[in-house]
Amino acid sequence: IKPVLEATGLTRIYQSKQGLFGKTTRIRAVDGVTQKIMPGEVVGIVGESGSGKSTLGRMLLGIDPAQGGEVLFEGKPMPAPGTSEWRRLRAKMQLVYQDPLAALDRRLTIATQIREPLDIHGLIPGEHRQARVEELMAAVGLRKDQAERYPHELSGGQRQRVVIARALASGPRLLVCDEPVSALDVSIQAQIVNMLRDLQEQNGIAMVFISHDLKVVRNIADRVLVMYLGRIVEEASSDVIFHSPRHPYTQALVSSVPVPGKPLEGRMILQGEPPNPAKRPGGCVFHPRCPLASDICRTTVPVLRPVEPQRLAACHLLAGEAQPIAA
Ligand code: ATP
Ligand code: SF4
Ligand code: MG
Repeated sequence: IKPVLEATGLTRIYQSKQGLFGKTTRIRAVDGVTQKIMPGEVVGIVGESGSGKSTLGRMLLGIDPAQGGEVLFEGKPMPAPGTSEWRRLRAKMQLVYQDPLAALDRRLTIATQIREPLDIHGLIPGEHRQARVEELMAAVGLRKDQAERYPHELSGGQRQRVVIARALASGPRLLVCDEPVSALDVSIQAQIVNMLRDLQEQNGIAMVFISHDLKVVRNIADRVLVMYLGRIVEEASSDVIFHSPRHPYTQALVSSVPVPGKPLEGRMILQGEPPNPAKRPGGCVFHPRCPLASDICRTTVPVLRPVEPQRLAACHLLAGEAQPIAA
């Protein structure tokens, strides 16, 4: 089977100016990310705020341009943004983000908005589109009598269902969900996450699921990428990452999730400043906060490489015959 998407060495640098005469700072938000995403696979991305998760998600879709590296979608390079070929391909990859109200047009009924991609891309004959809209609404758990409602007449969860129905309308092969439930009531988060998982499974859609909520990622993802300051520091199946994290950052991240009945002692606590891309440390980007850092960590970038058959990690301690890290 061929990957849906192959990204190689993706790098994104933002320039931002502080004040009118301030000097320009360069922020390396994503730094050399390489990924292969297979059909039907769910890839979770976790990491603290500012680690580059959203930027990477947008780069995979070609929404944010890469300064370095390339993206192949179904084996072909992404065409230039704005061209008709690009629009056709963009229908095959969709973004669902945190704020459904911003994603929807408040002047249009939800049926109109779900139908829009069908009209734009002409994927099915006009006379079947109405039925398809009804089907999509049912698939995301919206009632038929809600078709003529406007976004502001719905709850946040219902609006996100509309966004998901519209994303599915164009028959995507890849869905990037960036914190899709973070703005919603805790009571309905699980419903929406389960629905996304069911829909992606039924339709064989590959999904990238970005969230700072580790419990959610653990539930939904097959494979997990752990990001820190723009780099992937550890990558493995969801079970492996959450049961036996090996990168010191992943260990700290995973142990920060409270487990009922598990004592607080022995947990590794993240110390020091949260990651700041404007002040990126040299060597291993995690070294200022790593309790195991040594001289080499300050000078040499650890590359992401296989450290076990089913695990990639970027840490000097995990290379070759490394000493084991205490969990
Ligand atoms: P969060 O968990 O807060 O959503 P994130 O992991 O999604 O964080 P990004 O939004 O990708 O992180 O941001 C990575 C870095 O790039 C941050 O330091 C952010 O300030 C910076 N950044 C993101 N978008 C822009 C932009 N349009 N212009 C300048 N800097 C940006
Ligand atoms: Fe810590 Fe060094 Fe490993 Fe980085 S490379 S995570 S600083 S031990
Ligand atoms: Mg984000």
